[in-house]
Amino acid sequence: MCGIVGYIGKRQAQPILVNSLKRLEYRGYDSCGTAVSSSSIKVYKDVGRIGQLAQTLPPNGGRKGIGHTRWATHGKPSKLNAHPHLDCTEQFAIVHNGVINNYQLLREQLIAEGHNFQSETDTEVVPHLIEKYFQGNFKQAVIQALADVEGSYAIIALCAYSQELIVARKGSPLTVGLGDEEYFVASDVPAILDYTDRVVYLEDEDIGLITPKGIEILNNGKEVKRDEHTILWSLEDAQKGGYEHYMLKEIHEQPTVIHNTLGGHISTIDSKVKLDITIPTGITDILMVACGTS
Ligand code: GLU
Repeated sequence: MCGIVGYIGKRQAQPILVNSLKRLEYRGYDSCGTAVSSSSIKVYKDVGRIGQLAQTLPPNGGRKGIGHTRWATHGKPSKLNAHPHLDCTEQFAIVHNGVINNYQLLREQLIAEGHNFQSETDTEVVPHLIEKYFQGNFKQAVIQALADVEGSYAIIALCAYSQELIVARKGSPLTVGLGDEEYFVASDVPAILDYTDRVVYLEDEDIGLITPKGIEILNNGKEVKRDEHTILWSLEDAQKGGYEHYMLKEIHEQPTVIHNTLGGHISTIDSKVKLDITIPTGITDILMVACGTS
C-alpha cells in the first residue's frame, strides 16, 4: 500500500503536498517524494519518511504538484525506486498506488522502442507509455497509456506544459477535495481535511481532468458526475473512519485491505490468484510473520 497526493490551484503546492503526505504515512513510509511543476518538473525523492525529505527541499513556487509515500511492492526501497517517476523527456511525472501486473511485458516493449528506465518499479511503465502516446493532448495520452495497463492503480499524473492534473483509479482508492479554485487529491480523506471538508470519491475506471477552474470525470469514455460529500468528522475522527477505536476500524477494514492487496492478482476470468513471482526451487513452505494488527 502507498499514499498518493496532488494539488493544483493558487497556493504553492510543495508545503501542501508535504503536509498531506504526513497524514498518509500509515499507508507506507519506506521512501517518499514530490514533483512540483511551474515550467519544468522538479522531482525530490529519497528513502525514509516525508519529515526527513521536507528538511532538504529547496523552495519551489510551483502551483501544481504530486507526492507519494511508498510501501514497495516492485523494487527495493531506494531513491531511484521512490516515486514520482518520470518519462525520458522529463515532461510527465506519475505517482501510483497499486500493482501493474503486465509491467514486465510493457517494459520490454518500451525498452525495445528506445525508452530508458531508471527504476525497478512496475509504475515506471506508465510515464513512458504517456510519452509514447503523447501527441499534444495530455488527457488522451493518459487514457491510451492506461488502456495498456493490467492490474490495480490510483494514479495522479503531472505534465510540465499543461495546466492540469490527471487522476485515475481502478482498484485503489482516490478522493478529490474541492476548494475555491483549487483541488486536493489524496488516497484518503485525512490527507486533505486541513484544507477542505468537501470531497468527491472517484469510482473504478474513472479518469478525471482537474484544472484550478473545475473537474471533468470520464468513465469508459462518457462524462459522469460524482456526488459531492461534506465530511462531518474531525481529523482525528476521520483517521478512525467514524469508528470509536483504531482497532475497530482496522477490523472492519479487512475486506477492503485484502481486496486492495490481492485485487490486482486475481484473474477476472476464473478468479484464480496469480502472484507473478518466481519461487526458487527447493522451497517447500512459506512462513508469514506480522506484527501489531497487520
Ligand atoms: N507498485 C508500486 C511500487 O512498488 C506502488 C506500491 C503500492 O502502491 O503499494 O512502487
